[in-house]
Amino acid sequence: MTGLQTKLLIGGKWVDGVEGGTIRVDNPYDGALLAEVAEATAADVDLAVEAARAAFPAWSALAAHERGRLLLKLADAIEADAANLARLEAMDTGHPIRDCLSLDVPRTVLCYRYFGGMADKLEGSVIPVDAGFLNYVEREAIGVVGAIVPWNFPLMFTSWKMGPALAAGNTIVIKPSEITPLSTLRIGELMQQVGIPDGVVNIVTGYGHTAGQRIAEHPGIGKVAFTGSTNTGRTIVHASASNLKKVQLELGGKGANIVFADANIPAAVGGAAFAIFHNQGQACIAGSRLIIHEDVVDDFLDRFATLARSIRLGDPLDPETEMGPLTSRLHQQRVLSYVEVAREQGGEIVTGGRQPDGEDYAKGCFVEPTIVRARPGDRVAQEEVFGPFVTVLTFRTDEEALAIANGTEYGLGAGLWTSDLTRAHRIARRLHAGMVWINCYKRVHPASPFGGMGQSGYGREMGFEAMREYTVPKSVWVNV
Ligand code: NAD
Repeated sequence: MTGLQTKLLIGGKWVDGVEGGTIRVDNPYDGALLAEVAEATAADVDLAVEAARAAFPAWSALAAHERGRLLLKLADAIEADAANLARLEAMDTGHPIRDCLSLDVPRTVLCYRYFGGMADKLEGSVIPVDAGFLNYVEREAIGVVGAIVPWNFPLMFTSWKMGPALAAGNTIVIKPSEITPLSTLRIGELMQQVGIPDGVVNIVTGYGHTAGQRIAEHPGIGKVAFTGSTNTGRTIVHASASNLKKVQLELGGKGANIVFADANIPAAVGGAAFAIFHNQGQACIAGSRLIIHEDVVDDFLDRFATLARSIRLGDPLDPETEMGPLTSRLHQQRVLSYVEVAREQGGEIVTGGRQPDGEDYAKGCFVEPTIVRARPGDRVAQEEVFGPFVTVLTFRTDEEALAIANGTEYGLGAGLWTSDLTRAHRIARRLHAGMVWINCYKRVHPASPFGGMGQSGYGREMGFEAMREYTVPKSVWVNV
């Protein structure tokens, strides 16, 4: 396997951390050691910010189409390296290789292509103001962006931040999760290969409370773009206050997926399974609350439980595997603990709820696809479990469905299944969510804004919205 880079990328050089520590990276399928990567601490973040600041003037002054051309070259290089990157991601995260090849890598390529093409299309505007004056607005790059990403989709999430940030002319210090740093390091190598200048992207593999904290508080960073848990998001906001840096937060979710009585049930069953079991449910937008009309709940659950039991769990590198292990042992234990929480509150385990039996699963962080019936106020209907664990709730009226759907602190993704399109649009308008899917679930595209409301955070990734997030408007007045 190529691409097992284990050092920090600072100012175009691969280096060890100042303090010389390393972080162990394990394969969640069998516990085998995959790599020992350099551990970045605050001192390394300082060096990375220095390098990013030095690279900023030339990078931001480069013609926008030249920045775009480099991102397009990067997309091609990722495509050429697809098999290797997919393998790396599967081993590091536990994602089935079939998903890495069909979703993670192609979506990453699409993202860099989209923002590569966008680089020279970010126009300013001329504003009609008082007579005798010309007022125009340009969008300027912010400077150094600090990007902090989680472990659930490392390859894709780094592209969601680096694509728009680089297209807009910023330079970057990026910290992947300490649990899954490998694909980000490979992307660093590919960036060098296509000629992205030294210091434009700096990669610091370190822990959150040290390297991450330093990124959030660093006075030389103009914006921090964070994806992760709501609690860490709050910590970032506090730390960022030291220099009032711009903050963008993509946080947790508790996605409502509503099935109305007139829905196409087989389609809704398939969609609900993708919504919660893809990537072992480790998705902020997972459809983790299934809100089903009472008239169809029995039929729906019969089919859904049958489908859940038929999902092939196994080695992420086996092309037949549909669900791999969870990404870490600690997380597996956390997800399983919610089965007990459900039981204690009187929930009914419809299927799953355990680590599967058998030698094939003994060493891996597996959790069976789990379906639980509960009540809207129960902890399993309120808290983010972040695993292959779906909470089923029922309703009788549209108003009741909406009240349940909107009845958590989150507001990220929501879906609904119905054959009545008038109802679909009416409900979509009233859902407290940054993204709504009608008769589908979890669709994402680099052209469509992605982000949440409430405790799911603020700011948007993707599309023109992302280009706005990574720039600041400058209003220029001319006396004519
Ligand atoms: P996490 O918050 O524990 O960690 C995310 C990142 O933050 C990691 O790189 C970590 O090292 C870093 N970090 C941790 N503590 C830090 C600190 N004090 N200062 C700075 N950085 C720190 O989250 P996780 O467990 O890696 O990821 C799962 C969470 O991410 C879930 O809540 C999920 O919903 C959320 N998520 C949100 C989105 C979205 O777009 N809204 C997408 C994916 C995941």
